[in-house]
This record gives sequence, C-alpha cells and structure tokens, in this order.
Amino acid sequence: MGLLSSALFVASSRTFLFRFLRRARPSFDGRALRSDAARDRSVAWSRVLLPLAVAASAGSALAFDLSRVSAPCLCDPGLESCVTRGDSSDRVVKGSRTEVIDEFIRELKDVLQDNMTVDYEERCFHGTPQNSYHRAVNVPDVIVFPRSQDDVHKIVVACNKYKVPIVPYGGATSVEGQTLAPHGGVCIDMSLMKGCLKIKSLNVEDMDVVVEPGVGWIELNEYLKPFGLFFPLDPGPGATIGGMCATRCSGSLAVRYGTMRDNVINLQVVLGNGEIIKTGSRARKSAAGYDLTRLLIGSEGTLGVITEVTLHLQKLPQHSVVAMCNFKTVREAADVAIATMHSGIQVSRVELLDEVQVKAINFANEKNLPELPTLMFEFIGTEAYAREQTLKVQKIVSDHNGSDFVYVEDANAKIEFWRVMDDRIFGKWEVYRVTSPNCKLGTGTCSGEHGIGTGKMKYLEEELGIGALRTMKRIKSVLDPNNIMNPGKLIPPHVCI
Ligand SMILES: Cc1cc2nc3c(=O)[nH]c(=O)nc-3n(C[C@H](O)[C@H](O)[C@H](O)COP(=O)(O)OP(=O)(O)OC[C@H]3O[C@@H](n4cnc5c(N)ncnc54)[C@H](O)[C@@H]3O)c2cc1C
Repeated sequence: MGLLSSALFVASSRTFLFRFLRRARPSFDGRALRSDAARDRSVAWSRVLLPLAVAASAGSALAFDLSRVSAPCLCDPGLESCVTRGDSSDRVVKGSRTEVIDEFIRELKDVLQDNMTVDYEERCFHGTPQNSYHRAVNVPDVIVFPRSQDDVHKIVVACNKYKVPIVPYGGATSVEGQTLAPHGGVCIDMSLMKGCLKIKSLNVEDMDVVVEPGVGWIELNEYLKPFGLFFPLDPGPGATIGGMCATRCSGSLAVRYGTMRDNVINLQVVLGNGEIIKTGSRARKSAAGYDLTRLLIGSEGTLGVITEVTLHLQKLPQHSVVAMCNFKTVREAADVAIATMHSGIQVSRVELLDEVQVKAINFANEKNLPELPTLMFEFIGTEAYAREQTLKVQKIVSDHNGSDFVYVEDANAKIEFWRVMDDRIFGKWEVYRVTSPNCKLGTGTCSGEHGIGTGKMKYLEEELGIGALRTMKRIKSVLDPNNIMNPGKLIPPHVCI
C-alpha cells in the first residue's frame, strides 16, 4: 500500500518535476539535456507509474500493456523502443515522414541560434505522450524554443516554405495525444515564452492580465496572490496558459467561473498561413464581427500558435467551506448536484466520485472514507454567506436520502480535503465534474474536458455531424493552407471538402 501511495504521489507530481528539469536551457547539440540522468529517470518513472496509477483509479475500466509492441518504425533506428506504448490500434494515428532537409534546419538555426535541438533523446522525449496512453509512432525532427512572437512567426514562415509540420507544445499535460508528432516535423516548445517577469501587464482595477503562452497557471496564481486576485482554471499541474487555451480546458471551479472559453478576452496568434492577428481587444463587451477568440480556443494547435493571451481574473474569495456527503447510488448524488444548482446556490466546486474512486482514494491514502458515491462541494464568499449556503445544501442532501454530511472551514483541513481529491489517482480523470445545471449522467460530450487530439477523433462526427466537420476543415484550409499545423489531430482524416 505504501508503495502504491508513493507511486501515486510521484505520478501526480511528475509533471512538476519534468517542467523543472526541462528548464535546463536547451542547446543545439542537446548535450545539456542528453546527460540529464535525473530527467531520464523521471521519464522512466512516469512510464511505469502512469499506467499503474490510472489503472488503479479506473478499476478494471482501463488496462495497460507495458510491453513493447512492434509498430511501423518511421523514423530513426531505435525509435520504436523509445516512443511506442500500448497495444490498441484504435489509439494509433498512422504517421508519415518526409525528410527534413539541412537547409531548413540551417534557416531555423539562423533564427533561433542555441534555442533549438535535434538531439535524439530530446526529440523522443517531446514525441512521447507524457500524460496519455496514446501511442507515438514518430518523433519530431527538431525541437525549437522560441523566445518571442517574432521567433514563432519566422518558424511558421520557414515551415510553410518547406511544408514541414508543426506541433505546438505547452506543458504536455493533455491526455488525448495532442502533442504527438505522427508526421515528425517541428515541435515548438513554448517554455521560454513566459516574459522576463512572467507577466506582460497586470490591470488590477480591470481584473485582467496579459501573459505569454508559456506561463503556467500555478505560477500565474502565485504571482497574482499578493494582489488579491487569481485565475480560476486549474487543469493538470504544469499546464501552460497557451495549452489551456488550445485545449479549451476547464477545471474544478468551472461550475462557478466557466471554462477557458469564458475567461479569455483576447489572443495574439501566428496563424498557420504566417499571418499575425489579434482576435479582440481588452474590452469585455464586444459584438464586433466573428468571434475569432473562441474559434482559436479549443483549436489544439491546428490553426496557429498562440503567442499572447489576455485573461479575465477573479477576486480571491474571503472565506470557503468544503463539504462532503454520501449516497446509495450515483443517480441520487447527481440529482443532488443538479437540485443544488437549480436552487440558485452558487457553489464554486462540485465533484462526484463513484465508489470505485473512493476505494482507490482509501487505498492510496490509507483513509477510511465510506465506499459509496460521494459528492464534494466548495462554497465561497463571506464567512456568513459560505456557511449559509452550506446549510442550505445540507438540507437538499437530506431531502435526497444523502448521509454523512460533513463540512470543514479550517484552512489545513480544507487543504487535506482537496489534497486527497487531487491525489486521486493522477488528477481528475475519473471524476464526473458537474459543469452545467443541465448536465445529466450518461449525456455530455465525447471529449469531456480534455479535447480531441488523436484519441477522440473517431467520436467527433457523431457528436457534431459531418457538416460541422467539413466547415472546420474549410476554415483550417484557409488559415493553414499547407496543413502544417498539428496535422493528424482533431479533424478526422476521412473528412473531405
Ligand atoms: C493530472 C491531470 C489533471 C488534469 N485535469 C484537467 C482538468 O481538470 N480540466 C481539463 O480541462 N484538463 C485537465 N487535464 C488535461 C490538461 O491539463 C489540459 O488539457 C491542459 O489545458 C493542457 O495544457 P498544456 O499546457 O499541458 O498543453 P499541451 O499538452 O502542451 O498541449 C495541448 C494542445 O495545445 C496545443 N498548444 C500548446 N501550446 C500552444 C500554443 N501556444 N499555441 C497553440 N497551440 C498550443 C498543443 O499543440 C496541443 O494540441 C489534466 C491533466 C492531468 C495530467
């Protein structure tokens, strides 16, 4: 049990470790990174722990095969043992590979100097899914680390000239194979694009902030805390603002503050065709033309590279109360979540765990929680208001045959409550997050909150219809005429225009 518990801890903190170690400045020949034994160890650990952790969480729902499988090796010798994982052909996007010519690499070098690498291990590292079980069949040919929008622009222009695919790369916490490079090409790692002070401008009165895409949501919130502000989206630890926009992520507070779509005011983007655009202004209200911001949010790097983001911020709440209760069935728990939202009570978080997840939490944390469908709530506001809302929900719970309603207000107890939740086997994957008053179990979208990538492409037509997919493809063909932006993702290959 102790082993699994530590395994789970390492798994959930792995992304931090990876980001931290990856901060070593890249060198063109990759020497700085190749000798990084600690980084290699963390990768090796994560390969073992991810399947363990997720399998434990999902009970028998997901099975992982750690054995190496034979897949078409489309790149360098040795690639197969470096990047392949899993054995389901469903999860594999068949790749292709065009030789990247030296002249192109030289052009990139002129722009980026030492901020690029063709080191094989580094390419394998970027080409391997860090947080998903989708199989890689190829690796990028070169990793670039732009420092500015101008660098990104020059990279996109060069890639268009030589028809080389681009995969933008943020924190690599996405779970649907979004950062894989099935066709090789250039991986644009945004980790150096976080401004010298992380923040380009902060407008405390207007409660907005302008950031570069490589800034992480955790770093941003540390920066904002002294100003009494925060950004309310909390996906995987290590996720960057650029990646969060590109995946249209949400988080545990989505029920209160919405998703990325609701919290981004403006974007600057280098489109696949090389044009640089801004999608809006700092004004909150606008009815000016097509909503390009929302078009780019959720585009998963298939239309352009996001180079600057203006975000809407929130006031840090004065007080919060965290509550937990149990039900005999998941249905009853879901009914209470819906009844609570219909009653007008403004919860800031609602999480629903089924008995399997509670069992996994007990196992991993040596806890003794009742192994029943469980709801967790958070209420925020003034002390009196948060408590009043808690008691109202307690009444709703008892009207729906709920039991064991407990709530905590002490800061350490609250941290412990959410720590258990956040350690719950590699984050929030197996938790049904209630984000809409109309949300009913069994309905919802094919992607949940994790985007499409390669993993969910086959369900997209069923959800949106072929007409919508053709329209997406038409839009992509205009904004990215050479189809260099993250090819093989999001729009299924059978969609023709
Ligand atoms: C433990 C854990 C918990 C999670 N919890 C949640 C959750 O609660 N809610 C949720 O929604 N997701 C969650 N996720 C998924 C993940 O954290 C989100 O999808 C996140 O938004 C990805 O951000 P990233 O920076 O890691 O992007 P990456 O994984 O690096 O990239 C994701 C996609 O964005 C593109 N991209 C990255 N940067 C840019 C850019 N600058 N311009 C254009 N495209 C770009 C990439 O090409 C790729 O297609 C979780 C993941 C983990 C591992």
